[in-house]
Amino acid sequence: MIVVFLGPPGAGKGTQCKSAVDRYGLRHLSSGDILRRERQEKSDLGKKAQTYMDAGQLVPDDLIVAMMMKEFENHSDAGFILDGFPRTIGQAQALDQALKKNNNSIDAVLNLQVDDDKLEQRVTGRRSCPECGTAYHLLYNPPQKQNLCDNSCGELDQRPDDTAEVVRNRIDAYHKQTAPLVDYYQKQGNVRLLDGNLTIEQVTLKLFDIMDSLLP
Ligand code: AMP
Repeated sequence: MIVVFLGPPGAGKGTQCKSAVDRYGLRHLSSGDILRRERQEKSDLGKKAQTYMDAGQLVPDDLIVAMMMKEFENHSDAGFILDGFPRTIGQAQALDQALKKNNNSIDAVLNLQVDDDKLEQRVTGRRSCPECGTAYHLLYNPPQKQNLCDNSCGELDQRPDDTAEVVRNRIDAYHKQTAPLVDYYQKQGNVRLLDGNLTIEQVTLKLFDIMDSLLP
């Protein structure tokens, strides 16, 4: 099964992908996670991507397409769920070509939509523990002690691109460069709308309904 998640920053793509990955045994390929790993390793790609990411802009297509093609080659054994890729028409075309070459195609594009006025608050409140990875939200799931991990690890981190200023650029990039993909995939007839304004649990149930219907 190959599933693509579309949606603005803060829509809950990462959270929903994790539930789907656990239930359906798919591989979660998050282009943002891969880029953050490259940055930590201080690779050439990581260094090139850094300025774009910190400014809330998209990393150029040639770098992203090469990076994702390498991931597909390394994980050709499993079905996967794509989170954050493709994000431009150019990336979507490159993905279509690569899948066609292997006689594969996308089973569903999940369009997770959230009202714009909710996105900024969702993103700027995100925190995580650098030690154990536990995720928090200052409003919806706060730690017991201010800015400290409940598992006694220490202080929580905020992603540098989750600040109010940068997130506005990311939302802007989504509208200009990524939202047109909904039309692109609608022409292929495989877009499914998910209302991301609902609670996490409600979205997960609807997601499972859609994914169950894709099973052979
Ligand atoms: P994310 O974790 O998906 O929000 O991605 C974080 C940042 O990584 C984005 O704001 C972009 O700078 C970069 N990025 C991730 N995926 C892509 C992509 N498919 N195309 C271009 N840039 C990307």
